[in-house]
This record gives sequence, structure tokens and C-alpha cells, in this order.
Amino acid sequence: NARIQEETPSRGTLPYAKNAVVSFASQPLSQATLQGLETNGYTTMTAIQSGSIPHALAGRDILGAAKTGSGKSLAFLIPLLETLYRQGFTPHDGVGAIVLSPTRELAGQLFAVLRKIGKFHSFSLGLVMGGQNKNKQKFDNNDFVREQQALPTTNILICTPGRLLQHLEQTPYFNVDSLQMLVLDEADRILDMGFRDQLIKILDYLPTERQTLLFSATQTKSVKDLATLSINRNTVEYVGVHDQD
Ligand code: ADP
Repeated sequence: NARIQEETPSRGTLPYAKNAVVSFASQPLSQATLQGLETNGYTTMTAIQSGSIPHALAGRDILGAAKTGSGKSLAFLIPLLETLYRQGFTPHDGVGAIVLSPTRELAGQLFAVLRKIGKFHSFSLGLVMGGQNKNKQKFDNNDFVREQQALPTTNILICTPGRLLQHLEQTPYFNVDSLQMLVLDEADRILDMGFRDQLIKILDYLPTERQTLLFSATQTKSVKDLATLSINRNTVEYVGVHDQD
């Protein structure tokens, strides 16, 4: 595809000049994604988006430094939708992408954004997080069973780590062999919240041939260690976005 070729930045380069205004429409995106963006009022990319989306669309892994509020969500949700679209995923194909989020609140917000921008696609989406009803154990168990039933035909999962691991360990017919993309959002917070061991167990279940996008506000040693563990390929792009100066 000539258009994709043309718009693919070389490795190790920033796709656009600093502070350049780049439209979503200039990217090689499907009509369904462009329509989802447009109907929600998204027209030009933020810095983290223009820095990482072209590389992610080229199939590269991303290690992104970006704070909350910088527009990270679309920086990974757009490539995620495009990857499954290009692969022709349908609900029969099962899980194609997993996003791990540190908190239920953040997971819920991501899910809402995904529903909005993904509404012209026909993927099945799932929000998988523990303890919806902390005070009512039996309802929580019902939620778990409902999730178990839905998982085999869900394409995109937004999860908190504990709950995803519980399903990987306990849910029959939950097959992640077709996984194309793993996103770790707010990796520093995931680690701060004590999910490291669970993350390592999760990684063990996932196919190693996949694209991984890892975003973190801070680049601590433990985030770098996690990047080493989760990013398998040598095509990783480092995308850093700093406050405007
Ligand atoms: P983060 O994931 O980095 O915390 P969000 O993705 O939640 O940031 O984005 C922060 C805010 O900026 C949200 O209100 C979102 O709707 C808005 N936003 C994100 N990308 C764009 C864009 N390209 N154009 C306009 N607003 C945007």
C-alpha cells in the first residue's frame, strides 16, 4: 500500500517536527476510525499521538513517556483498532488486543473512549475488572461468571491486572493465542500498585509474537525492567513528550 509506505517514518526518527499540527485525516487510517474520531471532535493529534501513532501503525513496539492528560489513550487505542481492522478481526476470532490499566476508574474511562471512537467498527469490547461490588460478594461472583461467558468472543479487553490473571488461570475456553497487541497504560502506576508479580504471570500466558505498547509518566528502573520483560522485539521506538517549552 503506497500510502502507508509514504507515511511510515523511519525507525528512530520523530515522525513530525516539534509543535507541527498534524491531522488524523493525514494518517493511513480506516474510514471507520476516522469517522469515530471526527464525530467525537478529534481532528488534530497531540504530541504523544503524532509521535507514536505513525510508528505503531508501522507495527513497531512503543516505549512512550507521557503524563496523564497528554492524550495517551488515543495514542494506543487508534493503532489498536487499526491493527485488528487490517487483520479482519471479527468476534469469532477472539481476543486480539488487551489493554492493562492500573485502576478500575482508569479502565472505565478508557473503555468509554474506546466505545466512542470505535463505534463504526464491529469489534466486540470488554471491560474486565475486579471488585465491582465490593460489599456484595455474590454479585461480584456473578460478574465474574458473566465475564467468563463473554470472553471467548471478545476482541478488545480493557482490564485491571488482577482480574485478567484470574481469568487466564480460571476461565476455560479463554484463548489468547491470536493476541496481536498488548498495551500497558500507566506502567509506573501499575508497578506502584504492586501488580508486578501478576504482570509477569500474565506475560507468561501471552504469545510472544505480538506488538507491545508501553506508556509511563516516569521512567524508573522498575519501568525499564518491565519494558525489558514485556517488549520482545528489537523494533521498539522510544517516544518522549515533554511539557511545551
Ligand atoms: P491520557 O490518557 O494521557 O491521560 P487522555 O487520552 O485522557 O489523556 O486525554 C486527555 C484529554 O484530552 C481528554 O479530555 C481527551 O478527550 C482530550 N484529547 C485527547 N486527544 C485529543 C486530540 N487529539 N484533540 C483534542 N482533544 C484530545
